[in-house]
Amino acid sequence: MRAEIIAVGSELLLGQILNSNAKFISLRLAEIGIDVNYHTVVGDNPKRLEEVITIAKGRADVLIFTGGLGPTKDDLTKETIAKQIGTVLVSDDTALRYIHEHFERSGRTMTENNKKQALVFQGAQVLANHTGMAPGMAVENEGTHYLLLPGPPHEMEPMFTKEATPYLFSVLGKKELIKSRVLKFYGIGEAELEFRIQDLLEKQTNPTIAPLASKSAVTLRITAKALSEIEANLLIDAVEKEIRSIVGEFIYGIDEDTLSSKAAELLGESNLTLAAAESLTAGMFMAELADEPGISSSLSGGVVVYNNDMKVKQLGIEESLLTKYGVVSSECAAALAVSVMKKFGTDVGIGITGAAGPDPHDGKAVGTVWIGIVALGEAPKTYKLSLSGLRNTNRLRASQFTLYYLIQ
Ligand code: ATP
Ligand code: MG
Repeated sequence: MRAEIIAVGSELLLGQILNSNAKFISLRLAEIGIDVNYHTVVGDNPKRLEEVITIAKGRADVLIFTGGLGPTKDDLTKETIAKQIGTVLVSDDTALRYIHEHFERSGRTMTENNKKQALVFQGAQVLANHTGMAPGMAVENEGTHYLLLPGPPHEMEPMFTKEATPYLFSVLGKKELIKSRVLKFYGIGEAELEFRIQDLLEKQTNPTIAPLASKSAVTLRITAKALSEIEANLLIDAVEKEIRSIVGEFIYGIDEDTLSSKAAELLGESNLTLAAAESLTAGMFMAELADEPGISSSLSGGVVVYNNDMKVKQLGIEESLLTKYGVVSSECAAALAVSVMKKFGTDVGIGITGAAGPDPHDGKAVGTVWIGIVALGEAPKTYKLSLSGLRNTNRLRASQFTLYYLIQ
């Protein structure tokens, strides 16, 4: 399939503006596998435009026009092409309504010549203009496809992407496929995520990015339209890379991944065993991990040491440590992790302690949580959370955050 891009406008010939529309369209046509053999520029002159069309239809299958769709006298593209292909112009209701609304919104009065912009070829496919007034159109005549697009790049470009490309796909007999990938986030709220990637969300058309928030997860769905799976994946990869460069530290997985499946995967792949000492969560963390089939090769076991007495008796936590730092402390979380790792002879140890609520615990505010994670031969790491939920939400969050820190 061969295309010719015909830019109409005397200002192009006068050197007042550069034909950037041809550049944009050529790049896009190359992507979808349509060869561009000619770029033509012609002034706002019906006779010369007619000559150009006669030559172009003899050497190309698709003629793509930009410019001259506006309301002024020199905008003659539609009239000239209509004459050439022997069709008439009729007013398009949708486009006319849109133009009316445009004027109402801006508080200006609509003049008669603006109605001209709603004229389209009878039987043509109307290409909606979401960023301006004049609609574009696509029509086939004697085996040649005519696409008419507005001149201003901020109108032409989105119209080309959203409206003209599907038309070209149908001409090519190719069907677009739609593919999506879900990115899963933890440790960032929906509002903050949207705020941080706001620019990307606004400028993105293909692929699109849609935030979805459910009770327990914040996710982004990236959806691409393309002609092949490979192309769709490339489009998605590029957007994913941009998102990761902004908020990558909060992404824990894709599609069907869950925090526990990722943790299980990590432990399994690295051949690591794990034990946990749970105070605040009283076994919730291990229960989450045990959702994963086959976890017995990684999850050795653990203890629920809910009161201080048991922390001392079962795990040998020093009473002096508890008196000095308190049970809801970095020191206690680290000691729990180290002790349980030793007791169970594992590669990784986890300690979780905190004040679930509704009342402060051991002088620590409701929602204060300390998580300790230790790997054999390394110093323990501890993480503090200040949660703001009700008692059981806090306990669930503490379990999930432990999984999240484990896979970091
Ligand atoms: P309008 O409704 O704004 O009159 P139109 O479809 O009639 O739009 P033109 O009048 O031909 O288009 O051009 C309007 C403006 O669009 C030009 O002044 C120029 O800024 C821009 N433009 C037109 N053609 C091109 C082009 N080929 N490349 C880049 N910009 C262009
Ligand atoms: Mg114009």
